Amino acid sequence: MKLQNQNAVLYQPEGKDALKALSETTDLCIGAHQDDIEIEAFGVISACLKSGGKRRFSGVTVTDGAGSPRAGEYADCSDEDMKKIRIKEQNAAAKIGGYAAMIQLGYSSSAVKKGGEDIVKEIAGIIEAASPETLYTHNLADKHDTHVAVALRVLEAVMSLPKDKRPKRVVCLEGWRDLDWLGDSEKAVFDSSDEKLALKILGVYKSQIAGGKRYDLASVGRRRANATFFASHDVDEAESLCFGFDVTDELYGGKSPEEIIRGAIERFEKDVISRVSRFS
Ligand SMILES: [Zn+2]
Repeated sequence: MKLQNQNAVLYQPEGKDALKALSETTDLCIGAHQDDIEIEAFGVISACLKSGGKRRFSGVTVTDGAGSPRAGEYADCSDEDMKKIRIKEQNAAAKIGGYAAMIQLGYSSSAVKKGGEDIVKEIAGIIEAASPETLYTHNLADKHDTHVAVALRVLEAVMSLPKDKRPKRVVCLEGWRDLDWLGDSEKAVFDSSDEKLALKILGVYKSQIAGGKRYDLASVGRRRANATFFASHDVDEAESLCFGFDVTDELYGGKSPEEIIRGAIERFEKDVISRVSRFS
């Protein structure tokens, strides 16, 4: 496999050929920005790392990080400086997370929003080469435009592949909007209890934390709340949970992304309204 994009940065933590190592992937997460993968897929990263080599995680970051917020010691960094800093931070996270491969595609945010065959083909090629059992991306109810655009390109890419080349499962993860509102029986849950590892892996994003946003603490806090307020008793032992929305059946059944998320919102609406009307 060859990447079309000249800006792409490949990294393999053990110094192997990243594109070759990509084929070891069982769990592939495709996110918009450097740090999205570690915020959203932490439970998966942690499970792969503890699997004794049975599962391997790989990450793809689609955009270049040029528009990153900057403050403190990063306040005077140009867009070009920020791109370099964020590439380094992402690779440091991949090393801590023991990823099989890390690919940073370096597209501009506007290119991803515009879409087009090139980006979709590039993503489809990576999915095919990695042939993961499960593919993860942003969820369609995220409130960040670029996150939603990436999710749409990823779902488009999956559907462009022949059926036998598609991942067994496609899961959309909570990021810039949580998935607490999704029915508990509909949630895909990932144990994220290793908070020491979570803080370590998000701690590499110094340029973002310096901007005043404590993504590390916020992510750990949200996952604690997820576990506490989750209704099922099956995972009582987990102190911390990441939530996802498994869209596999609906996507492969031919539903559009819009239909998939509309269905989930309508089920949420029905749940809320039925409870309110029952006690009115
Ligand atoms: Zn992001």
